[in-house]
Amino acid sequence: VIADLRRERRGATFDIWDLTTAIYGGQEALDMIDKQTRLVMQEPRLQTDDLWWMSRKERYIRACERGELFVKIVRENNIPFEERYPLELLLGEDLFILLHDVMFAPTLMNLADEEQQGWWLQKALNYDILGTYAQTELTHGSNVRGIKTTAEYDENLFEEGGWHIHTPSLEAVKWWPGGLGKSCNCCILMARVIIKGKDYGPHPFFFQVRDWETHASLPGIELRDIGAKLGYNGMDNGAMRISHVNIPRRNMLMKFVIVEKDGAYRKVGDDKMLFGTMTYTRLKISSGAGFNLAKAVTSTIRYSAVRRQFQMQRVVLGADIDNHLDDDEKDALASQDQLKLLVKPSKRTEAQVLDYSSQQFIIFPQLALAFAMHFAGQEAGKAYDAALLEFRASKFDALTEMHVLTSTLKAVSTVLMADGMEQCRKCMGGHGFLNAAGVGPQYLSALPQATYEGDFVVLSIQVGQQLLNAVSSKMMKGKKSNPKTPSLQYIYECDPAKPSLPPKAAELDSLLQNHDFLMAALKSRANYIHFTSAQTFQEEVAAQGKMGAETLDTVKIELMRMTYAHAYVLYSECFPKLFS
Ligand SMILES: Cc1cc2nc3c(=O)[nH]c(=O)nc-3n(C[C@H](O)[C@H](O)[C@H](O)COP(=O)(O)OP(=O)(O)OC[C@H]3O[C@@H](n4cnc5c(N)ncnc54)[C@H](O)[C@@H]3O)c2cc1C
Repeated sequence: VIADLRRERRGATFDIWDLTTAIYGGQEALDMIDKQTRLVMQEPRLQTDDLWWMSRKERYIRACERGELFVKIVRENNIPFEERYPLELLLGEDLFILLHDVMFAPTLMNLADEEQQGWWLQKALNYDILGTYAQTELTHGSNVRGIKTTAEYDENLFEEGGWHIHTPSLEAVKWWPGGLGKSCNCCILMARVIIKGKDYGPHPFFFQVRDWETHASLPGIELRDIGAKLGYNGMDNGAMRISHVNIPRRNMLMKFVIVEKDGAYRKVGDDKMLFGTMTYTRLKISSGAGFNLAKAVTSTIRYSAVRRQFQMQRVVLGADIDNHLDDDEKDALASQDQLKLLVKPSKRTEAQVLDYSSQQFIIFPQLALAFAMHFAGQEAGKAYDAALLEFRASKFDALTEMHVLTSTLKAVSTVLMADGMEQCRKCMGGHGFLNAAGVGPQYLSALPQATYEGDFVVLSIQVGQQLLNAVSSKMMKGKKSNPKTPSLQYIYECDPAKPSLPPKAAELDSLLQNHDFLMAALKSRANYIHFTSAQTFQEEVAAQGKMGAETLDTVKIELMRMTYAHAYVLYSECFPKLFS
């Protein structure tokens, strides 16, 4: 190891393994990651060094090979489903298996009823079938409820009734699903349910697209790859046009909505659950955002520790020697050399760029953010696991909380991640622009996370409305809390008539080291934005005489600010939970 790096590592004021264990969520999880890392490292065909020089075709073929090796490792080591996601990340490439495990299989688990799970789930978990999630269309992505693919019910189809699936126009062509271009043979298809002329909106279907044996597209199904992308090129994102294809009635996933043979439509629970896969995917994306940024920050900090440019007087060099060299090393330095180091540091060598305040100003906040986003993702994961147990028991109280939590973290963490990775790239000077530096390709691969599953703007509209609701419940109805949204409790606790006084200047230095003070400051900031935005919104409603899409549009910039501020409250709340 280069001496500069060794010295920096020895300078750590904390136990590196304690922190590593906390990052991975405990010793057991760390052991699991360690085992998976060894499995990946010992397979030469899973190394990533050559990926950045490949053509798209070669890269896809390598992705298939990786997919095959992944399945082999899973089977040989009996890796349970819930432990496969870290292994997928360790593959270091975006490929169809990711869609299968993050969207396809979880949708079957959460939206298919027991009998339907018996038909498809085990095959999915064993990769005997390969699926994706086909929701977005050429003209509708953000507005999920606007999709146009139709599923028209006909009780005379098959013995038990069936669906007539059709792409009614070019606009309705499915566009983007990962793995649909070449790899998968089935998908969760989101299509509008129409029964006896009545439109019930989008619902999920199990839909086979390729022959199980030959892999040829099935009759009436036209599939294609949508072409090269900025990054994410191991993934075969695809397009699909469906021409009058019939499937059995029970191919609609029926855990929360049932359609009987005679066409009777019945809800079981809350139909918002039909979009539950998106909540889960947002959770997974936001949980990975901290790691993506951490990868870039790690490369950049290492580079900055090793990279030396210009000379700078390092007044603490003597202290460095005392702190960071052990006795043997100190003895090994001839006294004359020590003297040279201490007396004329500026003449000795150029400075590590890591020591420049400007470099630290850019990199260190990214380092802190990587931790904050990662731990927030971990906490959200625990909350989601608890909520999922309730959903499976048909209790839906936690739906709004999960929606707000995962949407806020997904919206904000992915934008901060992408911006932060680009900052890191720039902090590596010219070398940062080389693929070999790693950050550039990782950045391009992570970049679409800020777009898919709802971009920042679209999600902030949904989150912002919930924040406005909380303000209005407090101000108009005098509510002191809403047990269904515990993460918004700080809004109910705020009294806008009694703003907190600014601290005294003399106390500021110590207060800035105090977590409670910082958290209160972030909540104050958020509440200021929430309450003033709510007031602006009310004024708009009064001016326009009604509440509608136009009124909402006048406060969309406020909604974005509110979502940002709320995310920082969530980040700050996760730290004490972690360390307690
Ligand atoms: C790499 C990648 C992989 C993907 N994988 C899948 C997949 O596997 N399956 C799948 O179904 N889909 C997938 N998608 C599609 C993805 O989910 C959508 O592209 C995404 O949700 C954005 O929708 P859109 O393209 O319609 O954006 P648009 O809605 O066209 O966004 C354009 C602009 O309009 C703004 N905008 C939209 N609505 C509003 C509004 N109401 N108010 C203010 N501004 C608004 C947006 O903020 C944005 O700035 C993938 C996309 C990418 C890039």
